[in-house]
Amino acid sequence: MAVRACPHCGAEVAITGVVAFTNGVDCPKCAVCLEVTPGARTISTLCGLAAGAIAWSLASGSTSDLGGVLPTLYAFLAFGIVSALVMMFTAALRNAPALPVPEPVHASGHASAGHDAGGHGGHH
Ligand SMILES: [Zn+2]
Repeated sequence: MAVRACPHCGAEVAITGVVAFTNGVDCPKCAVCLEVTPGARTISTLCGLAAGAIAWSLASGSTSDLGGVLPTLYAFLAFGIVSALVMMFTAALRNAPALPVPEPVHASGHASAGHDAGGHGGHH
């Protein structure tokens, strides 16, 4: 599972395939609405289209009883799967600018210091 840091509070936010279709997630810690950067969406869409085209050409080559339906089905599946996967691994999060932040959350004790930047590189 791909994980990105929340740009607002630094908490880890899981990036799943849902992001590819919903264009946003909520931070589990500060509940700020996040969205993926437009660049990642463009890349994932292009990869999905390419995968769909490849799947369509492969499927259309084989003549079967369902030859008229399967290429479209395969292309649709390939687009959805590939675009979601690419989105998971390329997505970067940013604060969603369109939605207003409801209330400034009061920082209730930054007790857990020592969680330095740079991600969790491993526990020794
Ligand atoms: Zn957050």
